[in-house]
This record gives sequence, structure tokens and C-alpha cells, in this order.
Amino acid sequence: MSLEWSLKELYDSFEGENFQEDLKKLDVQLQKMIEWAEQALDNHEDEKEKLEKIIEEQLKLFAIREKLGAFCHLVSATDSKNKLALKYSDILRTKMNTLAETITKTSKWISSIENLQELIESSPLLKEHEFYLNEIVEDNAHMLDEREESIIARMKNTGSSAWANYKNLLVSMHKVEIEDKGEIKEYPLTVVLNMAYDTDKEVREKAYHAEIASYKKIEEGVAAALNGIKGEALTLSELRGYSSPLEMTLQNSRMDRETLDAMLAAMKESMPKFRSYLRRKAELLGYENGLPFYELYAPVSSAHMTYSYEQGQAFVEENFRSFSEHLGNFARKAFDHNWIDVMPKEGKRSGAFCSSIRTLKESRILLNYGDSFSDVITMAHELGHGFHSECLKNESAHNTHYPMPLAETASTFCETIVKKAAIKQADKQMAFAILETEISDATQVIVDIYSRYLFETTVFNHREESPLTVEEIKEAMLDAQKEAYGDGLDPNFLHPYMWTWKPHYYYADVHFYNFPYAFGLLFAKGLYAQYLERPDTFPSEYEKLLSLTGKMKIKDLTSAANIDVHDINFWRASLKTIEEDIEEFIKLSYEI
Ligand SMILES: [Zn+2]
Repeated sequence: MSLEWSLKELYDSFEGENFQEDLKKLDVQLQKMIEWAEQALDNHEDEKEKLEKIIEEQLKLFAIREKLGAFCHLVSATDSKNKLALKYSDILRTKMNTLAETITKTSKWISSIENLQELIESSPLLKEHEFYLNEIVEDNAHMLDEREESIIARMKNTGSSAWANYKNLLVSMHKVEIEDKGEIKEYPLTVVLNMAYDTDKEVREKAYHAEIASYKKIEEGVAAALNGIKGEALTLSELRGYSSPLEMTLQNSRMDRETLDAMLAAMKESMPKFRSYLRRKAELLGYENGLPFYELYAPVSSAHMTYSYEQGQAFVEENFRSFSEHLGNFARKAFDHNWIDVMPKEGKRSGAFCSSIRTLKESRILLNYGDSFSDVITMAHELGHGFHSECLKNESAHNTHYPMPLAETASTFCETIVKKAAIKQADKQMAFAILETEISDATQVIVDIYSRYLFETTVFNHREESPLTVEEIKEAMLDAQKEAYGDGLDPNFLHPYMWTWKPHYYYADVHFYNFPYAFGLLFAKGLYAQYLERPDTFPSEYEKLLSLTGKMKIKDLTSAANIDVHDINFWRASLKTIEEDIEEFIKLSYEI
């Protein structure tokens, strides 16, 4: 077993024969598709044969492109300075861009077929891709004509994209001044944000005040970017025939409004429980009036558990196996076949990810393994993503793209399996530490995300009438935090500038990029609650569910697994698993 991942299943090198040959094959395939579409899609003769041809050729293209892309991506992930990886990523992107017009043309052609459903029923290949085809038609209904789309795309470069770049520039160059022993020092924002985790209370508090004061320098510019981007989103959603930017996001998430409303209502109900956690944390840190915002990430325990990589592997595999043999075997396969790049090293990117290579029916996982418990959890998280791909591996590539709210289901689920097992085995000190991290993370995903949803709603509503001033944006943020955190936070120490550095409000094409996180966490917890109810039958239902995530709307997918996401009780059950953790945390806090 190696501690570095094996990429030879893809290619030996960039300059090797196989890589270069595939690059040529890609050119040929692209050219073939472009030329074919030009003459074949000008009329509606032989529609069935043409539809089948479209799908077959797209899948061929996908298989070549995926291998080439994966090799570039994975090589540069462990060797960021690799010039060939950068060069070929760029070449690939340029080549794929040549297909843009053909894709639009194909979508329009498919959407103009009169009896699409009849054709789908008449062909096994088309039937297999029913969801894929119908989604193209649905999305196409919100596309304008080709000339208008091309104008919009070009204007966006100088509109929302330019605003987003400007905002990123302001924030990335932003410096915070902090006084240290009578001397004023300038720190990059990222360093100051990290001070929130410092073990020294004075550092955390000082960093917060300095950060808030520093935004005066950039607030007008960032507010202009927010107004510009949200204004454009409103214009575009109207032009495209959506009732609101929220509806646009819901459609892209394959989610309906009833699901969102049921989830938000359950979240709102559970806020008091989270507030009791925050107030208890405040007490532990010596505050009487709720937790100041700058103490949200403050460590309250110094307990540590260490796991060597071998111990971590054994712990993960054993607990995965207690869920199902398949999951346990999957982890073993990933370890034994060198799918994981384990240790930090120079030039390797930070963090962790899992990358699925469907053509090989394999995944590759990047870790930066230390010896802490959180490294074990990260391993479980990424293996969870890998297992999701494992369950999708017999699906057509067109049926494997799952929407953002479902993206973290399998990873969160596997995290939960391992955390629950660890808490059981840990002593009180350690159980307390694990619970605190877990609840603190959940508070971000449930309470803070709720506040972000409220904030973004207010911003859109206001922006429809007129741009917002800095003061109005700050007020909207404070109102949202008060409503979500209630008496859990000290009202004198909230954070009126949480809209400045968070990137999510400034994406040109994605809005309300907040509730999918809450959905992800709560959906996985809800599945876990189902598992506890019926541990024998659930594992196979779970695999079935994962295998369907790329070809169904969320409502239909969950119905197939006997879950009703329109029912607030499903969300209540998910939240209950977190509420029980909070109760346990509070109980332990008096015992240790
Ligand atoms: Zn993840």
C-alpha cells in the first residue's frame, strides 16, 4: 500500500503516447459533433435516430474528456507548479469551448421536438435518458433566443462578472490593522478571520473589533458590487420568465418550494435549542448576556485524541462495516488500490476532496492527513463521496450529475456514522470535545445559514425597488442575525459586515447559495434517523437512493425511498438528532 495515489490507470505522463493520442481523439470527436449538428439539426427528419446519436456521441466525448481532465486536475492537485498540467488544462478548456454553440443548438433542437415523450417510450436508450432529455427541455424554456443569449453572455463580462472581480480584488487586498504591544500591525483578512479560533480570548476579541473597524475602507465598493450583481440577477430572472431569483435556484437544485418551506419551518422551530447551546457556551466562557459573535468558534475544550493513519483507516473501515459490508469493503478497496493521496507535502494543495473518475469506475481522494480526530472525520467524509460514486457507477454518465443540495448527502452520512461511534468510545472529556465541534458546525449550517437566507431575501426585495446603502445592508444583516440567533448571541456584539467577505452573495449565476447547505446536512441526518429505525433494511435502500440521485427531482427521489420531504416531520426528526447532541453537550458540561 502506498501513501500516494496511483494515476497510472489514467496515463503515464502528459507527453506519453496515450495522453497525446486521446487529445487527438478529442479533437476528432469534437469536430465530428460540430459538423454533424450543423447539417443534421436543421430539420426534423429521423428524430429518434438523431436523438440516439446525440446521446451516444456525447457519451463518447465525455469518456475521453473526463480521463484527460482528471489527469490534469489530479496531477496539479499534488504538484501545483506542474507546468504541463496547467498547460493541458487550459488547452482542454479551449477545446471544449468550441462546442458551446453546438450545445445550444442541440438543446433548442431537442426542445422543438413535438412528440418527445413518444420517442422516449419507443427506444430503450432514450428511455434510459428520459430525465436528462426532459431537463434539457425544461431548462430551454427559460433560455432566450440565440442572439439575446449571446448578448447577455457578453454583457455579463462587463456586468456581474466585473463586479464580482472587483469585489474579490477589494477583499483579497484588504488589510486589517491590529494593535500589538503599542504598535499597529497590518494583517491579511484571512489571518484575522483565523484568530476567531485562537485559544486566547483577548486575541479573539481584538481581532473582531479590528476586523469590523477595517471594513470602513471597502464598504462602499463591496456594497456597489452587491447592488450590481443582485440587480442583474433580478433583471435576468424576469427576462427568463422566473418569478424570482429564488425560483431559478430551486429549479437548478431540482427542488420545489414546498420542500424548502417545510425545511425552513422546521429550522425556525429548532432555533431555541441552538440558542440554549450558545448560552451555555457563553457561560462556560464567562459571559452572562449570550455569546458575543467573536466567540462562536472559541475552543471550549483542550481534549485531544490522536490517530495514526493506520489507526484512522481501521477505525473508519470498522465503523463503515457496522453499517454495511459493502461500505466497509469499499473503504478497504480505496486503501488497497491506492486511491488516496494521504500526507501533506510541498506543492500539494490544502484541504481535501474526492474526485470521481466514472470511466474507470474509480475515485481518487486527496487528504492532508495529520493525526487528529478531525483528520479521521475528513477521511470518512471523502470516502462517503467515493461511495456515492460507487453507487452510481453503473449509470450512464448523463444520469450521474446530482444537484447541489444532494452533493453532501453521502459524505455527511459517513461522517455521522464515524462520529457517533467515536462518541460512544470516548471518555467524557473527549466526547464533550467532539460534541462541541459537531454542534458548533451545525450551528453554522442551521442558524447562520438561516440568517443568510433571511438576509438575501431582504436584499432582493429591497433591490427590486432601489439599490441599498451600506447602512441598509448592515441593518438587514443585523436584523437577520437577531431573528436567527435570538438571545443566543449578545445583541451588543453581532456582526453587521458578514456580507463583505463571504463569497456566496457575489456569484454571478448562483443565488441563495445558502439553503442547499442546510438541506445537505439535514437530509443526511434524516437518513441517519431512518437507519436507526430500521438498521437491517436501510443500507440497501440507501444505496438505491444514492444510485438515483442523478436522474430524479428531489421530491421524486425521496418519495422512492419512502421519505416525504414536504412533511415537516421529516425535518423535525433530522433536527432532533442535533438537539439530542445539544442536550448531551449541556449535560456533560456540568459533569466535567
Ligand atoms: Zn464534501
